[in-house]
Amino acid sequence: MKPDYSATLKKLRKLNTKKLDSLFHELHDQAFEHIDCLECANCCKSLGPRLSDIDIKRLATHLKIKESDFITEYLRIDEDKDYVFKSMPCPFLMDDNYCIVYKSRPKACREYTHTNQKNIKSILSTCVKNIPTCPVVE
Ligand code: SF4
Ligand code: SF4
Repeated sequence: MKPDYSATLKKLRKLNTKKLDSLFHELHDQAFEHIDCLECANCCKSLGPRLSDIDIKRLATHLKIKESDFITEYLRIDEDKDYVFKSMPCPFLMDDNYCIVYKSRPKACREYTHTNQKNIKSILSTCVKNIPTCPVVE
């Protein structure tokens, strides 16, 4: 059975925005002191980012190929009409869990786990969805 976070979410939603942000940012920093993404890579193995036009341009430039070829080779359009990788694990994730396009990775990859961004209150449901994937959010 899935854990029920509704009571916790209700409490968190009652906190003021600044207080909630500072609580999350502190917990985010503490979690990353103990968790090594290179030992995990769950997000790169299972979630997959949405890619914007800017992400596609940056990655195609990085790989020195045309944007149209990048799209054909790596991307599909999902049910929300967004570009996502054709398959997961991500094609740029190596066996040692390094990302070979790290410097040019999509914005969504840079922002994941989202737990250090501003206005956490607006993305609390997303954070809950990430709990099964990411030990930092958990
Ligand atoms: S799922 Fe979380 S802990 Fe694992 S690699 Fe991604 S961000 Fe790091
Ligand atoms: S582009 Fe890099 S950071 Fe993003 S999902 Fe792929 S391997 Fe992970």
